[in-house]
Amino acid sequence: MADHRIKSVVIVGGGTAGWMAAAALIDRFGTQKHTTVTLVESPDIGTVDADEATLPHFREFLKWIKINEVDLIQRTSATFKLAIGFEGWAGEGSRFFHPFSEHGMPLLGTSFQHWWVKARQIGKAEPIDRYVLSSELARAGKFGVPTGDPASGCLFFHYALHCDAHLVARYLQSWSILAGVRHVQGKVLDVKLDGATGDVTALRLDGDREIQGELFIDCSGSRGLLIEGALKTGYDDWTHWLPCDRAAAMPSEIAEPPPSQTRSIASRAGWQWRMPLQHRASNGYVFCSRHISEDEAMATLSRAAAGRSLAEPRVLPFRTGIRRKIWNRNVFCLGAASGFLEPLESTGVYLVQRGLQFLLGSFPQSRPNLALQENVNRANREHWEHIRDFLVLHYKLNKREGEPFWDECRHRDIPESLAESMELFRRTGRFTPQATEFFRPSSWLALYAGFGILPDYYHPAVDDVPEEQLALELENMAAGIASVVARTTSHEQFLRANCPAKPAPVAASAAAVAV
Ligand SMILES: Cc1cc2nc3c(=O)[nH]c(=O)nc-3n(C[C@H](O)[C@H](O)[C@H](O)COP(=O)(O)OP(=O)(O)OC[C@H]3O[C@@H](n4cnc5c(N)ncnc54)[C@H](O)[C@@H]3O)c2cc1C
Repeated sequence: MADHRIKSVVIVGGGTAGWMAAAALIDRFGTQKHTTVTLVESPDIGTVDADEATLPHFREFLKWIKINEVDLIQRTSATFKLAIGFEGWAGEGSRFFHPFSEHGMPLLGTSFQHWWVKARQIGKAEPIDRYVLSSELARAGKFGVPTGDPASGCLFFHYALHCDAHLVARYLQSWSILAGVRHVQGKVLDVKLDGATGDVTALRLDGDREIQGELFIDCSGSRGLLIEGALKTGYDDWTHWLPCDRAAAMPSEIAEPPPSQTRSIASRAGWQWRMPLQHRASNGYVFCSRHISEDEAMATLSRAAAGRSLAEPRVLPFRTGIRRKIWNRNVFCLGAASGFLEPLESTGVYLVQRGLQFLLGSFPQSRPNLALQENVNRANREHWEHIRDFLVLHYKLNKREGEPFWDECRHRDIPESLAESMELFRRTGRFTPQATEFFRPSSWLALYAGFGILPDYYHPAVDDVPEEQLALELENMAAGIASVVARTTSHEQFLRANCPAKPAPVAASAAAVAV
């Protein structure tokens, strides 16, 4: 039998996407020695290096590639994240959370949503966050690891990390090189294509070097050196749905106890993020350049930071959209090379991870298989569109009336798929089948509830319970959560006691190889 296994994989790019790909691929191929993994990056072309708030899936990624979470936290100075707090989105002074957990607990076999909707309709329920432990812990700036022990009350919820993207990439770099990834430093000057098939065959590097490969992973950032530069795959622009096109980012000194949430604060022409790291705070302003100049955005960001700035703000332009195919010929793209969605729900790292799952789950043989590629491309696109819709929902439901940027967002057309989801929820309290993966129903519910949208429908089983009893059940649930929050330690104390940053952050110890 012929051996159709791929023998060489070449990754282009050493940012977050490149080193995540390297770590996942060497985890797959490191021991069997049949397939080599090479990563090429140019020391002259920088990485995005914006700080990264992650989703709980990132912890699954660490487990997948066998990295110890506590070690990574300590060496990269990371902190914990229980939720995103949306401030001002539902009007000045408003705040609601998008937590990484379900809302409330089912009662008498019917999901909490139905009980809450009825109780809210009759004025006997608090905002939905009061029934979510992780939201309330985030509100109080506290953190505890879910124990599963009923006595602790911290039964079950998910959490994520706030990361310094630069340090995490260096951590994954050291780990990958030790595990067997060949690291080449050099600038790709040209991409060679096979005259007959159009496949990429080799990369020409500076210093008259060449790297050949069978499968190429394009992690070269938004320019998409291989997927676009060489293969002209095409890009679908989504700016008409998500109009922000720049981010200003600035690190600052720590001036307050670290919150256990990412703060997303609505601003004149976009929104600002605040997230804590153990060694500094991260601040950003994602904005629409038609509504504010770069200078004004940078000045706004500098004024808003709680601590003294550690560097001048820098502006990162982006173009929201998706590469038409994540997989074209023998090139698979990840990270900014595959598209860009603004960091409103921290999906950048997650989408790299999801892309890697698509790749490894449908890993090619050395002979072409168009049906396999098309299947992956379709699934990936549907996934991105679902996440895009979730992001658009934030803007569509905003309640900042009288502000040009926000008025425009409320009145702007939305994708048909989102219009259908919204209608379905309003009439039935249900979610489209795409919500089975990510973002899940609890995330959509958090948004609708946060913006004060209630469905017409709740399950009729709720009417079997007298209203006074319904109110009492909810009151007890909120009181139980408040008592756990009161007993839980602050996020700052938790970090200090369990995973304080190590003084010398991770260093890239392994040297690049010469080719
Ligand atoms: C403002 C902002 C905030 C963000 N916040 C979050 C967040 O909170 N959470 C989240 O999950 N994601 C976030 N992201 C997204 C996340 O950071 C992405 O993973 C990142 O933007 C893309 O990284 P990348 O590795 O694809 O590309 P890059 O970081 O651009 O790296 C590209 C690499 O390709 C190499 N390269 C390019 N050209 C060549 C060449 N010719 N030869 C050799 N090498 C080359 C470069 O040297 C570099 O190593 C954010 C992004 C931005 C812009």
